Amino acid sequence: MSRQAVATARRTVVKVGSSSLTSRGQLDPHRLDAIVDVLAARVAAAQQVVLVSSGAIAAGIGPLGLRTRPRDLATQQAAASVGQLLLAERYAASFARHGLTVGQVLLTADDLHRRGHYRNADRTLERLLALGVIPIVNENDTVATHEIRFGDNDRLAALVSHLVHADALVLLTDVDGLYTGKPGRPGAEFIAEVLSMAELADVDVSRSGSHVGSGGMTTKIDAAAIATSEGIPVVLSSAARIAEALQGASGTLFHAGGDRSASRLFWLRHATTPRGSLVLDAGAVAAVVERRMSLLPAGVTGVRGDFYSGEPVDLVGPDGVAVARGLVGYDAADLPPLLGHKTGELPAEFRRELVHRDDLVLL
Ligand code: GLU
Repeated sequence: MSRQAVATARRTVVKVGSSSLTSRGQLDPHRLDAIVDVLAARVAAAQQVVLVSSGAIAAGIGPLGLRTRPRDLATQQAAASVGQLLLAERYAASFARHGLTVGQVLLTADDLHRRGHYRNADRTLERLLALGVIPIVNENDTVATHEIRFGDNDRLAALVSHLVHADALVLLTDVDGLYTGKPGRPGAEFIAEVLSMAELADVDVSRSGSHVGSGGMTTKIDAAAIATSEGIPVVLSSAARIAEALQGASGTLFHAGGDRSASRLFWLRHATTPRGSLVLDAGAVAAVVERRMSLLPAGVTGVRGDFYSGEPVDLVGPDGVAVARGLVGYDAADLPPLLGHKTGELPAEFRRELVHRDDLVLL
């Protein structure tokens, strides 16, 4: 049923990683054309496509005279700045062969957390699609570095699939799906279907991925958890099999929904990067860890990092050791005046949990 849902999806977000667009580290126009041909055929069949593509850094390597992918962040960003222009041009020319127009959308994960930005991005994407344009999304690498460091756009693609209410998310990489260990190693078995993220509890995802892009399998599972928790089925497949992947006929299928809280907690435990931390007093540590209670502002003595409501943060004890991770209910900027106060003393709009116990996992 779900594989069929991918084949017939009205709107699909397709994510292509750097490793699928490059040969020997540099952008390969033939590989890009091959991907575009399949996407154009889907659009010709009246199925909408939003493409989330990496490859900006890779495309900048040649023009900057670099030999390999830069390691330091500033040069990566410079390469992305040069390369994004070329990447977008390549896509424009390639889709033009099919009479199709593309639009460039550069986003940050933060844009998708802030309500105003979220609405603006949503409106732009909807209008592009209504106009028959294929939106090509990448992280805005000049101002945001999350996906450069941790994920080659995997998470961004999942957030975009929420944003546009996609019917399916297809993640393309250089391995043909998820394995129980490093592909090719003895004992590593292909996982065809994932009904619930809880099934992956024992899979060593840290070593089962590709070595090229920056994400590996962990961020792909992270992305799958985000999308499936919102009811969007996910296919993880190789770019070489893009045509089959879009038919739901290759790769690992992550079934949508079902076990929303389990997949969210899996994601929290294994795959999120905390955006900050809350320092708890000893009483709050005991309440959260031993009595499994929600965290209230009264038990918090400090806030580190800049985060928005809904983002993952670590809960650390007085000794600085992280004891739990949770989705925070407040923006960091709102917290300082609330800390240490009993809930009853706070203004009505702040009388709620800082981290709800349903949004918490112990580490
Ligand atoms: N947005 C970056 C790019 O397009 C991230 C990709 C990566 O980490 O390789 O190049």
